[in-house]
Amino acid sequence: MGPVFVHFGRELEPERESIPEDSVEEELRRLRRAVETVAERLSETAEGLRESGSGEEAAIFEFHAEMAEDPELSSEVEERVRSLTSPEAAVLAVGERYATEFAAMEDEYMAARADDVRDVAGQIAAELIGREAQGLEALDVPSVVVTRALAPSDTARIPQGMALGFVTAEGSRTSHVSIMARSMGIPAVVGVGVAALETALGARIVAVDGTEGFAVVDPDPDTMSEFEAKSERMVAEREALEDYKRIEARTREGRRIEVSANLGSASEAEDALSWGAEGVGLFRTEFLFMERPRLPSEDEQYEAYAEVARVFGERPVIVRTLDVGGDKDLPGVDQPQEDNPFLGWRGIRMSLDAPDLFRPQLRAILRAGTVGNLKVMFPMVVGVEEIRAAKQILEECEEELKSEGQEVGRIEVGVMIETPAAAILAAELAPEVSFFSIGTNDLVQYVLAADRGNERLRRLQNAEHPAVLRLIEKTCEAAREAGIWVGVCGEAAGDPALIPKLVELGVTELSMGAPSIPRAKKVVSEL
Ligand code: PEP
Ligand code: MG
Repeated sequence: MGPVFVHFGRELEPERESIPEDSVEEELRRLRRAVETVAERLSETAEGLRESGSGEEAAIFEFHAEMAEDPELSSEVEERVRSLTSPEAAVLAVGERYATEFAAMEDEYMAARADDVRDVAGQIAAELIGREAQGLEALDVPSVVVTRALAPSDTARIPQGMALGFVTAEGSRTSHVSIMARSMGIPAVVGVGVAALETALGARIVAVDGTEGFAVVDPDPDTMSEFEAKSERMVAEREALEDYKRIEARTREGRRIEVSANLGSASEAEDALSWGAEGVGLFRTEFLFMERPRLPSEDEQYEAYAEVARVFGERPVIVRTLDVGGDKDLPGVDQPQEDNPFLGWRGIRMSLDAPDLFRPQLRAILRAGTVGNLKVMFPMVVGVEEIRAAKQILEECEEELKSEGQEVGRIEVGVMIETPAAAILAAELAPEVSFFSIGTNDLVQYVLAADRGNERLRRLQNAEHPAVLRLIEKTCEAAREAGIWVGVCGEAAGDPALIPKLVELGVTELSMGAPSIPRAKKVVSEL
């Protein structure tokens, strides 16, 4: 709760649209210098944040530094400069083109990356124009920041302790303003729309409830005391959970339940560890493929997998092979237009059909297996043949690497149980693999015929439905018979209301977004 600070963002207008022909080389040099300066500045910020223990924020700045120097982006900008567009106009136009492309993607995470491209392009243009971005550093009274959109570079400029909360017109749950706010422990309400924002602009005081997702403009005394009480409760809860970060989760009778993290990128690994992750139960590799305009090479993939393996050392890290297709577009791959994308060419179906995509990934995982305790798992499986085919390719890749004289790690193979078919056939699948990981997000959507992204079906997006629980039970029984373990890596794994049921059914690993880990460990400890 606090006074409103309105931030108007930067509206950059290039001062010149075009350049004379004889200055192209000079302009290209200026452009490269600006890119270098911005990338260096971003890397320095990242380093500082990492040293001060803010891994998640550091990762965002590292990602931006990489984006600033992205070869595809740069070459497109340079091409425009060669066609006599001014470098500042070129970088803004290319940034906008990529941003529009990202924003149109159905995947919420990728759509949220539009702001990142705009932010980076804006910084390069500002550098070229020679204008300092300004505004937020002037904040000298602790305030609620109200703005259209907030970029990571904006949040980094806010003096320590001066932001009490954020209210933004744009943004979603997975946009970086949300991720940053969460990791800075600052309550935020994002995506309120411009109309709601205007109300906040005229206010003296705004109260922000980031948990429930609403803000109150000029609250009355009763509302103020409610907010004060809420905020005290939250602080107390956070402190009470602190100790759970360091424990190994066990039930009262001593049953060991591993509480692990879901990762979307290698740069999240350190942070996950600091939340108390006992391993990585799901490394979603698709973002590695989707966050660049071309496919990552085997070596680039190796770096990412090896980095996570290194951070987690002895602890298990489960790398899931590519799960795009249907609604998620993959730059560099021809994907068909589909009527029912969730019932389409996704996950293992695509991997088996596209060895050029699948083999380099498996080779990278095998090579990174020498660095730590890596396991591989396949998504969207519906039958034994798919597992056999995938394992066959894995074996071929292993032989291939050995014949090239490369070292490979010993990689256990697991399978995701996220289709009704896989759950029903669990007894047949179990002898083929070393573990199961139940993907409740998709399992629920397929069992209940309820699109996981449809807001009207919220009532049905629930793993507590008896049909889903019965399939989880069957899966656990089949695993027990075959002597393999079962984890859950869908959202249900981090839900305190569901954890007791999952543990009772026989699940021994729960994998979730890292910030949910301390609470999950507490729930397990009290069972
Ligand atoms: C799931 O389906 O539950 C899962 C963990 O995979 P994703 O959310 O990436 O589809
Ligand atoms: Mg899934």
